Amino acid sequence: MRYYRCKCGKRVSWSSMGVYPCAGCAECNTTLAEDPYSHATPQPHDFSPQPVETNEGTRYLDRCRWCRRTRAEAGAKLRKSMEATDADPVP
Ligand SMILES: [Zn+2]
Ligand SMILES: [Zn+2]
Repeated sequence: MRYYRCKCGKRVSWSSMGVYPCAGCAECNTTLAEDPYSHATPQPHDFSPQPVETNEGTRYLDRCRWCRRTRAEAGAKLRKSMEATDADPVP
């Protein structure tokens, strides 16, 4: 397992497979990296339609090819982190 963190340290990840280019910290806007010199700006999610089996048959949902999140999931996460940021006391 390898240890990755963003520049400010609020987002960390243990992974043996690396981290997604779209995974980043909303606070400092950097990707997770193994050392302090390889942080980059997170890439936007790369959505493409993926088949999903439902009771009504196969539907197509836009999912990110890296993190597999749907647009709704990625959007909900973004709103949540923005709310958390708003609630944080400003030093
Ligand atoms: Zn950060
Ligand atoms: Zn993604």
